[in-house]
Amino acid sequence: MDVLYLVIPCYNEEKVLPETSRQLKEKLNHLILNEKISPESRIVFVDDGSKDKTWEMISHLHLQNKIFQGIKLTRNKGHQNALLAGLMTVMDHCDITISLDADLQDDINAIDEMVDKYHEGCDIVYGVRSARKKDTVFKKITAEGFYKLINSMGAEIVYNHADYRLMSRKALEGLQSFEEVNLFLRGVVPMIGYKSDKVYYERKERFAGESKYPLKKMLAFAWEGITSLSTKPIKFISMLGGLIFIISIIMLVYSLVRHFMGETETGWTSMILSIWSLGGLQLLAIGIIGEYIGKVYLETKKRPKFIVEKYLSDESENK
Ligand code: UDP
Ligand code: MG
Repeated sequence: MDVLYLVIPCYNEEKVLPETSRQLKEKLNHLILNEKISPESRIVFVDDGSKDKTWEMISHLHLQNKIFQGIKLTRNKGHQNALLAGLMTVMDHCDITISLDADLQDDINAIDEMVDKYHEGCDIVYGVRSARKKDTVFKKITAEGFYKLINSMGAEIVYNHADYRLMSRKALEGLQSFEEVNLFLRGVVPMIGYKSDKVYYERKERFAGESKYPLKKMLAFAWEGITSLSTKPIKFISMLGGLIFIISIIMLVYSLVRHFMGETETGWTSMILSIWSLGGLQLLAIGIIGEYIGKVYLETKKRPKFIVEKYLSDESENK
């Protein structure tokens, strides 16, 4: 029977952990009882450098019941890296992983269907939000706008799918071979390939604690996604540059004609305008190119994406 590991990144989640661990344990035991997964299945919490009691609570859970495991990162590295750390650490111990958020906004009843799809031969099953009734209008518009924008940029992202997904060990091995530092999971996972499917669910409210994704982080996240998956912004800038160049040639011919016709009063306004517009455009272009150079710079460093401090697994002694 297949061993399932649930991987849950946690950043300052002391308020939700008691309830989350209870619900997940129930879900896992239910699946084990129905012989859908092996009794060796586990729930793994990844502590992303929390400043509150999150790690103490995880250690405590692990002590109480071996169904819970914990991975502690040396510092806060953000949701994406914490998730990756979890997946890469557990992949050799299991056949399937399902990643989900600690606040259980993503309906855990979709897990059953995900596991069924895996048994039907899928290596990746995406959890897709069918409705966002409980999200604020603002969150809904920004989030859905993000998926549309990034897809129009040529990146392949599953619409309304966040990081709630099932991945088989085979798929994780594929993921492991992506060495890039700017790893944007949602964009990279579809690149792995293999048979995949979707499972739909309704997104719920966070039952306790606050969102760790304020607007600033959301915008930064969207920008990271676009610049690490797509080179369209560069192409757009080059096209714009070309267009402006053509217009400037036309303007040059036009002003020369006016000059030889004796109308020498060249406009101060047009000169100032062109200085400003060209200067602005150049700065924009340099800025965008700089973004990519920055990424190349980071790639050449090959920094580790995370460092695991401790892994409370079945074999570890919890001290
Ligand atoms: N998270 C994390 N590191 C961070 C920020 C968030 O591991 O630096 C985790 C967080 O604990 C949660 C998940 O990422 O399990 C999603 O965060 P949240 O629910 O706050 O985001 P939202 O649902 O509001 O987009
Ligand atoms: Mg949430």
